[in-house]
Amino acid sequence: MENIKIRSLLLYLLLLSFLFGASFFIYEYITNAKIWSLNPINRHLSSGSAYCGKILDRNDNVLAQTVNGKRVYSDNENIRKALLHTVGDSAASFPSSVQARYSSELFGYNLISGFGTPKPLDTTSNIKLTLDSKVCAAAYKSLKDKKGAAIVLNYLTGEIICMVSTPSYDPSNKPDIKEISENDEYKGVYINRALLASYTPGSIFKIITAIAALNNLEDAEKRIFKCTKIKVINGEKIVCMQDHGDINLKSGLAKSCDIVFSDIAIELGKDKMASEAEKLGFNKRLCAEGINLSASKYEIAENSSKADLGWSGIGQHTVLVNPMHMLIIMSAIANKGTPVEPYFIDSITSPKNNSFNIQKRRHSSMGKMISETNADKIKDMMRHTTANNYGDKMFPNMKICAKTGTAEVSKEEPPHGWMIGFSQEKKFPFAFAVIVENSDFGIKSAGPVAASIMKSVYSGYS
Ligand SMILES: [Zn+2]
Repeated sequence: MENIKIRSLLLYLLLLSFLFGASFFIYEYITNAKIWSLNPINRHLSSGSAYCGKILDRNDNVLAQTVNGKRVYSDNENIRKALLHTVGDSAASFPSSVQARYSSELFGYNLISGFGTPKPLDTTSNIKLTLDSKVCAAAYKSLKDKKGAAIVLNYLTGEIICMVSTPSYDPSNKPDIKEISENDEYKGVYINRALLASYTPGSIFKIITAIAALNNLEDAEKRIFKCTKIKVINGEKIVCMQDHGDINLKSGLAKSCDIVFSDIAIELGKDKMASEAEKLGFNKRLCAEGINLSASKYEIAENSSKADLGWSGIGQHTVLVNPMHMLIIMSAIANKGTPVEPYFIDSITSPKNNSFNIQKRRHSSMGKMISETNADKIKDMMRHTTANNYGDKMFPNMKICAKTGTAEVSKEEPPHGWMIGFSQEKKFPFAFAVIVENSDFGIKSAGPVAASIMKSVYSGYS
């Protein structure tokens, strides 16, 4: 009897491990088959099909198409590099790219029949993006050899006009894997930084702290803060760029006074600051075009000091932000408190019936982020900041509301430069976010990139 018991137990264990293995395989197959099938070692699966769809930009410029069984990209090298992370390459190296996520529409890929080569069983379609490849190429050129991201969004519709992440490479002339893994120039190349990276924000976070102040301090606008350059809190220092003397919230934002915003964070406390940040989408999974963005974080540890909390109010300490999320906040401020959900697929067209399948737009599920009154107050402060501190010459005729940031990341490396903002003109409804990693002050590094991209948008869309 004992023997039989042991044998049956062993059999059950074997059966269980088999079931576990089989379920794991099926799960992996269902979730990853599309991506495996596009891998270069499986190229025999998708090659030879002349039926694959095209990817077009908003002006019908071809970004990717299949010619004689081979996937070819735009004939402009800058456009190919600028759109690599959005369009993807033939090796499906970018899981968030259109070629990886929409392989069933583009290549007729089907979970049961695969690509069904030589002719796919499923109809293949063309995919039109909301991106303007010219603007993207201009953004790529102005980021030069720096790592970072640049995005432009229509804040009334949610259409992404420009999305560029650097470093990049030419999908028509891909460097070899060894070079990509060993050469620092390509570090993090597979990450679409606009969607999937989070960074220390530095002073762009003062916008969030200012909203928290307006929401919670009755005298927020009237109060006079005192900046004597250095403030010592329980033996720890917070050091401002200069001695601003008596200063209010509006000038504090324009002059980017660290003392004003560290004072606010300390007065509100970490729980209130966290709940205010969460109202604006921090510590949450937000989406753009159905892709989960890397989360922005405002989490202050229990044992953090008062000075740490002060630093968090000026976007340092452990605060992290995602560039696309910053653009969502810009859209909320521009739209009286209600954000838009960003997207970059305009439409999917099936060549069979020629019908234009305009995707149903997911109107923001995020709800109101800021009250109408306070959104307008922040907008005015950001407008004042641009006009008085950066100068409207940077963005001629655009009436830009903006804020720069310089995020200290370590003692050894130069800071990350940021600039985020939007035009207050509803007839030119564009918002931008630019980050340039390990560069310089935001106004010196991200500023010129933002200016050149917005000029390029203005020349095409005003
Ligand atoms: Zn100051």
